[in-house]
Amino acid sequence: MLFQLYIAVVMAVAALSEPVADPEIILWRDTLTVAAKERFDRSLDEKISYILKTGKHVRATYVPPSVRPDIYLVSRSYIKKHARQICPKEFSNAELPQCAERIFGWIDDKRKIYVLRAEDVSVSEPQFFAGISPELWVEMEVFHETVHYVQATARPDLRPTTLDCAMTEKWETEAHALTHYWLHSLQSIDAERINARLRGGMAHFSCADPVVETSSSSSIPTTD
Ligand SMILES: [Zn+2]
Repeated sequence: MLFQLYIAVVMAVAALSEPVADPEIILWRDTLTVAAKERFDRSLDEKISYILKTGKHVRATYVPPSVRPDIYLVSRSYIKKHARQICPKEFSNAELPQCAERIFGWIDDKRKIYVLRAEDVSVSEPQFFAGISPELWVEMEVFHETVHYVQATARPDLRPTTLDCAMTEKWETEAHALTHYWLHSLQSIDAERINARLRGGMAHFSCADPVVETSSSSSIPTTD
């Protein structure tokens, strides 16, 4: 009897100490406590209302989405494994590895948002991310992709993964400008430095001429 109990206890301990699975893709909200879910939803609502309010600064007319987007956290290895599906279609196989290293978020045709999880952000380009917290970077990616979500809501006839070049450029220009405004609306962050990286990331979205950023430091909207 005692022996059986001992075996049962050992098995229970073994089950508890099994390594936790490291899912490569998880629905972010599912990982949160009830209180954290409320904060998560509130933060998303604030981002959406900021985008709706600030859209006029990029001459965009958006429509309030009826539901919040699903947001998934993914690992860098997930992006590498699915680089062909995630990277822009025009990329050659030889370009995929570099693309997979530089993608931090995207939206699919079902309007689901994917962002690189915080623990993999600074591993990607440590020299660039020095001084920027991975959590802020993830927040910024969520904001940027939420702009695309709102853009897609206003244009249900378009699919985010098959936009033509001109429309891709338009959406990215708006999303980068609004992200720039939003960063400036936050306190105590080095928005210029982060935006320098964002501008670098826009290079391959340019159709012909260099993309002209619509942002201007003299017309930064406030959050109220
Ligand atoms: Zn974008």
